[in-house]
Amino acid sequence: MTQPMIVQLRQICGNANVLTHDDPATDLSPWEQDWRKRVRGRALAVVRPGNTAQVAAVVKACAATSTPIVPQGGNTGLVVGGVPDSSGQQIVLSMTRMNAVRAIDPANLTITVEAGCVLQNLQAAADKAGFLFPLSLGAEGSCTIGGNLGTNAGGTQVVRYGNTRELCLGLEVVTAQGEIWHGLSGLRKDNTGYDLRNLMIGSEGTLGIITAATLKLYPQPAAQLTAWAAVPSMQAAVQLLGLAHQRLGPGLTGFEVMGQFALSLVDKHYPQLRVPLSQESPWCVLLENSDSESETHARAQFEALLEAALEAGCVTDAVVAENLSQAQGLWHIRESITLAQAQEGLNIKHDISIPVSRIPAFVAETDALLAREVPGVRMVDFGHLGDGNLHYNVQAPEGVDGQTFLHENEERVNTLVFDQVAKFDGSISAEHGVGELKVGKLPLYKDPTALAMMRAVKKALDPQNLLNPGRVLG
Ligand SMILES: Cc1cc2nc3c(=O)[nH]c(=O)nc-3n(C[C@H](O)[C@H](O)[C@H](O)COP(=O)(O)OP(=O)(O)OC[C@H]3O[C@@H](n4cnc5c(N)ncnc54)[C@H](O)[C@@H]3O)c2cc1C
Repeated sequence: MTQPMIVQLRQICGNANVLTHDDPATDLSPWEQDWRKRVRGRALAVVRPGNTAQVAAVVKACAATSTPIVPQGGNTGLVVGGVPDSSGQQIVLSMTRMNAVRAIDPANLTITVEAGCVLQNLQAAADKAGFLFPLSLGAEGSCTIGGNLGTNAGGTQVVRYGNTRELCLGLEVVTAQGEIWHGLSGLRKDNTGYDLRNLMIGSEGTLGIITAATLKLYPQPAAQLTAWAAVPSMQAAVQLLGLAHQRLGPGLTGFEVMGQFALSLVDKHYPQLRVPLSQESPWCVLLENSDSESETHARAQFEALLEAALEAGCVTDAVVAENLSQAQGLWHIRESITLAQAQEGLNIKHDISIPVSRIPAFVAETDALLAREVPGVRMVDFGHLGDGNLHYNVQAPEGVDGQTFLHENEERVNTLVFDQVAKFDGSISAEHGVGELKVGKLPLYKDPTALAMMRAVKKALDPQNLLNPGRVLG
């Protein structure tokens, strides 16, 4: 017999939008398995509301029965934050049916969209209206703006436009009690008390369910050029970043660094992408220059920058993409690193940030430490150097199975790397969040007073611990 709770959820959202294991023809694995295939949970049900009122009614029903809720968008998160645990007692609240663009306000430079809107569709809607929505990341074809806000996603344009938090002006949120907070203001100034919007952003579904957001739009640049530069060291990459800031100013919209081994994995698994200049240089940098004047101006600026960098010795070779398709090809290589390392097998991932000035010393010291402690490991280093964010990933030695390597070394390697991050005043999670994966690490590396305040906020907003329990705060 169907549980009364499931019957009630079906009355709220419709039969077709409440999926359970009772129907043997329904495969729930797309909602139960995390993107990296590290965890497979078991949901009581997957519930797919179609509007905010349904979300509120679902939350009220869950609150009445103490049923935990795991909000989920595109399920591309990398820290096991959007899938249910193995208890079979949690519902997955999948937001993907709520994907409408509600409004565009050209004079206010804002767009209001529902949480389940796929990032790429949001970018396309902005583009169609003649604007730029600058958030951009490798998973943009399937991640949702609700998930981007939930994790305060970063991506490749942060150096100019900031994280998702900086792009958001207002939110509509369903609270843990099933009340609706109508906060979709498009205001750039509003000092009327505590900043609840910024509290919700980055809370990974533990404080409220984001149902819609009002986001900033920007003018489209007149020209956008991409360059690929080989650099002899991380120190040289940081020197190039300084020059790029000086010479391009706000035109610098992307600055990505890629280690030689990371690029060799793209070469191996996606040979059709043709990685340029990768074999000879320990590091390559991808730079983007967005210009409000013209392509001629952008190209002249870019060439002057690269000439100065060659002269200073921080670049050994460079190419500027001739056209849009070449530029897209270069970005495609950068964005394929995550997929190429997944093809290569499991590795130990670290999404860390360090003050930019200290990154060269961090990398040199930590690489040497790992080589000493875990001989043969291969470093898949890449990331958003412009924001001091490195994906500092540790791959098994040649010929060693990834699963075995993780099983035997993950804890030790994490401790070695995170202790180094703390020593260099960094963060153990720059942009992916805490989820379940880093929940045990937070008390070791987060300021205890900050943690106590976070616990107090959680208790005040979600006293029943219904929203994504066990994530962020454990
Ligand atoms: C190939 C690849 C590249 C990536 N590159 C980047 C990158 O450059 N930068 C970066 O920051 N991340 C990156 N990520 C990680 C991931 O894409 C982002 O974290 C993204 O923001 C998650 O969005 P999602 O819709 O898939 O969220 P999900 O994975 O479904 O959920 C993520 C978290 O947000 C919560 N959540 C989801 N929707 C809501 C909602 N409506 N209300 C409240 N909470 C919600 C979930 O409970 C969970 O805790 C990458 C991932 C992949 C697979």
